Amino acid sequence: MGKYIGSRCRLCRREGEKLFLKGTRCATYRCAFDRRSYAPGQHGEGRRAKLSNYGLQLREKQKVKRMYGLYEKQFRNYFQEANRGKGVTGEVLLQFLERRLDNVIFRLGFCTSRRQARQLVGHGFVFVNDHSVNIPSFQVKPNDEIAIQFKKKGKQNVDDNIKLSKDRAIPEWLEADHAHYKAKIKRLPERKDIGAPINEQLIVELYSR
Ligand code: SF4
Repeated sequence: MGKYIGSRCRLCRREGEKLFLKGTRCATYRCAFDRRSYAPGQHGEGRRAKLSNYGLQLREKQKVKRMYGLYEKQFRNYFQEANRGKGVTGEVLLQFLERRLDNVIFRLGFCTSRRQARQLVGHGFVFVNDHSVNIPSFQVKPNDEIAIQFKKKGKQNVDDNIKLSKDRAIPEWLEADHAHYKAKIKRLPERKDIGAPINEQLIVELYSR
């Protein structure tokens, strides 16, 4: 499937909850979901249809996939890898998603959305253990040291993002040093560190059909 170029707010309305895809806008009166919380489209304003079991599983998968901004294939690959490894599949899946470098930069408050974080990584501003890493899907591990290094521009944007994200709690598995644009991975993320309301079991059931 190609790149989604439609309205991101529409995705929140489709999933029936705020996915926080547009950074600071999500916390303002301009949030489309706060103004129109019904599904998009001609018949969206009517009563939401009662979903089947399959429908519930599908919506949960779509929700998480959209939260992290992934394509179906990437998401399924994470599931398959989680399914092959040790541990509870749903929790390992979420751990893979959380350990993505773009997500880590977002969680650390250097960016106001994962999409913005992906750009910062893609443009080569992010270093892991003194090596430039421009792959948003890069998986961080305990004791990794992250640094943001600026070229000619970009510093002002990150400073603004840090200010705008100051009310967002940084998860306990990460340690941020905003003054020096650095951070450290203290440990692997656990289920309790992932604050978002996700029922990962539904996703496991969907892919296990
Ligand atoms: Fe979703 Fe509201 Fe953010 Fe748009 S502004 S992405 S509807 S949370």
